[in-house]
Amino acid sequence: MNLAEIVKAAGIVGAGGAGFPTYVKLDAKAEYFIVNAAECEPLIETDKYMTRTFADKLVLGIMMISRHLQASKAVIALKGKYKDEIKALEDSIAKNHAQIEIFRMKTFYPAGDEQIIVQQVTGKCVPERGLPLQVGAVVSNVATVIGVYDAVTSGRNVCDKYLSVVGEVQEPVMLKVPIGTSVRECIEAAHPVISDYRIILGGPMMGKVISDAAVIDTLVVNKTLGNIIVLPADHFLIKKSQVGMERLKHQARSACIQCRMCTDLCPRYQTGHRIRPHLVMRNVWREGLIEDTAEFEKNFGDAVNCSSCGLCEMFSCPMGLSPRRVNDYMKGKLRERGINPEKNLTPMARESIELSKVPTDRLIARLNLSKYNGLHAHTCIELKPEEIMIPMSQHIGKPAIPVKQAGDMVEINELVGRADETGLSANIHCGIQGRVMEVTPAGIKVKRSKEA
Ligand code: SF4
Ligand code: SF4
Repeated sequence: MNLAEIVKAAGIVGAGGAGFPTYVKLDAKAEYFIVNAAECEPLIETDKYMTRTFADKLVLGIMMISRHLQASKAVIALKGKYKDEIKALEDSIAKNHAQIEIFRMKTFYPAGDEQIIVQQVTGKCVPERGLPLQVGAVVSNVATVIGVYDAVTSGRNVCDKYLSVVGEVQEPVMLKVPIGTSVRECIEAAHPVISDYRIILGGPMMGKVISDAAVIDTLVVNKTLGNIIVLPADHFLIKKSQVGMERLKHQARSACIQCRMCTDLCPRYQTGHRIRPHLVMRNVWREGLIEDTAEFEKNFGDAVNCSSCGLCEMFSCPMGLSPRRVNDYMKGKLRERGINPEKNLTPMARESIELSKVPTDRLIARLNLSKYNGLHAHTCIELKPEEIMIPMSQHIGKPAIPVKQAGDMVEINELVGRADETGLSANIHCGIQGRVMEVTPAGIKVKRSKEA
């Protein structure tokens, strides 16, 4: 099997974001292979932990993938302030005689946005709604590269996950858990210091807010979950997520002062994409009055280029408005009307790009998260849950198809869901030894064997 086939068999998907199957990305040749170790979102430290703990695996994994892509430039991009991680990488690069550049980034948000990393490393801007490969780059994150190394060297499939738990907990923890472990069990392992908590899956800017305790009970760890934030029910981020769209539209109409800070600080605008959230905010009140398709596109078409990074609503807007959510809403309206604006395939970064970077510390203060900032997980705890519920859909595309039945025994690393070959999909494997208790199209429940 070649590298892409091994990666496909192992069920490796992008370990952050939406879970794009990695084998598809590897079906290419590229000038650059870039590892995104910038850990974009405030408070998350999973990539940092993995970089300094598994520096050798990361470096050797980069060498494997770069060779496969025939990339002439292998780069690992991380924040310049990550001294311990840079030292670990430098040592490993020297030991393994690797040709890998360490690219030191400033501490700003969103440093870990794939398109921003590509612009910073290569000087080229990815086309609107495009892929890094269009400018000769393939980007992967830390856990993905380590997963590739493990798959090639030891046949290890993706069946467990490193993630951090931060916020209202005794102290932040790093966990290693089988995929399918209950999110509640992960939170309990970090000893929450409040009982009536809400959570964010992922980071505070782009993560998913879960404010219903009953829903938290149903959640399990999947291939893309790298962090859980535990917060009080009345925290600013929880409250902000609960404001309805009608209210947001009304606020835009009555309170937007057209200062255009949302546009000027927008990372996509700064990479030359056509996006001007202040115009969408100016016109949102008359959305229902515009029937003409061309007129609708003229007023709201920019919204399709929004990455939903959240900077405009969490930092830039002095009036506390929500251009991101209005853009998300408008994307839906554009789809409904069948409008797909033309893409700018040759965007150029604006001269102001370096001056518009938002320092992460200031963002953290604005998010009311300063009390959790600077606290670090010191050790990694390995959880061994009695039962796991392995989802069949942990990736972009079609869910995997279960290949086990209730009553079957299953081993660690064994295939339990086969990628649906009729479309984009990914294999799913089991992280514990035990018996299959239940199989539904959504997932497979496995109970740990007593002797395991
Ligand atoms: S969320 Fe706001 S800042 Fe981010 S890309 Fe969209 S408009 Fe720009
Ligand atoms: S930053 Fe806020 S007030 Fe200023 S133009 Fe944008 S939405 Fe309006």
